[in-house]
Amino acid sequence: MSETSPDLPLSRSTVDRGGYLRQDPAAVDAAWAGAHTRVVRVDDGRTWVDATGEALVLVTTDDSPDGERYYLGHDNGTQYFAVRAPLGDPPAGAQVAGLREIGGGLGPRDTGLAVHAIALERWHASHQHCPRCGARTVVTHGGAERDCPVDGSSHFPRVDPAVIMLVYDNHDRCVLGHQMAWPKGRFSVLAGFVEPGESLERAVAREVVEEVNLEVGDIRYFGSQPWPFPSSLMLGFTARVTGGELKADEQEIAEARWFSRTELAEAVAGGEVLPPTPFSIAYRLIENWYGGPLPTS
Ligand SMILES: [Zn+2]
Repeated sequence: MSETSPDLPLSRSTVDRGGYLRQDPAAVDAAWAGAHTRVVRVDDGRTWVDATGEALVLVTTDDSPDGERYYLGHDNGTQYFAVRAPLGDPPAGAQVAGLREIGGGLGPRDTGLAVHAIALERWHASHQHCPRCGARTVVTHGGAERDCPVDGSSHFPRVDPAVIMLVYDNHDRCVLGHQMAWPKGRFSVLAGFVEPGESLERAVAREVVEEVNLEVGDIRYFGSQPWPFPSSLMLGFTARVTGGELKADEQEIAEARWFSRTELAEAVAGGEVLPPTPFSIAYRLIENWYGGPLPTS
């Protein structure tokens, strides 16, 4: 397995998140008031991008609608915020898009801004009330927190860790599975959420046994990518089979198959197997094992 750090599309970012700045409400207000401040409009997991899909459409604070503001950070003298409000009609030539449509199309700065803005928006939109007392909470720390004005409790944006692993053997084969809910022919690596009180390595081993009845060892970290649909962080691993017989659980995984490199290349080229979306960490895990770009069908 490669030891190089993978260049994962949604992990790219150049903006300094300003973690200390956002602790000071006056500094957040001053950042908003700056002449070079730019706003990412965001609602329901979507934002505005230009006609090419290669750049976000940012607006000035004067052109920003009213809505909850989340501080995203700064670079080269520009401060960035997200504002959560209905998107309405985009400017001429622009379009409304979510991360699935944007994919890996944006550059590093705009990818980082879009993923941060959408992840925050998804959490704030569904966490408006205190889980302790039910009172309406307020945005603090530039959107990195919501606080309850009644009982003083603090609440932080949720990130759900999920392990995703390419399982391979010593005979040029890897395991790919087809989930019940997927389109016909889609095969990908195995994945699952980390449970409370569980290490990442235990989660990898448990998920592989549960889903395809295989025992694994040599569990190695590959890389991570935010996946805010709405709040996952995908933690990629490789894992070598050490025992068991391949058998799908027929609950989450409808079908699981071994593929040699030649079999996978032929199945993808022939359209029999649809690999996962190219901007996913799943795709990168498969390419990493395959040893280069997958053929196209
Ligand atoms: Zn409360």
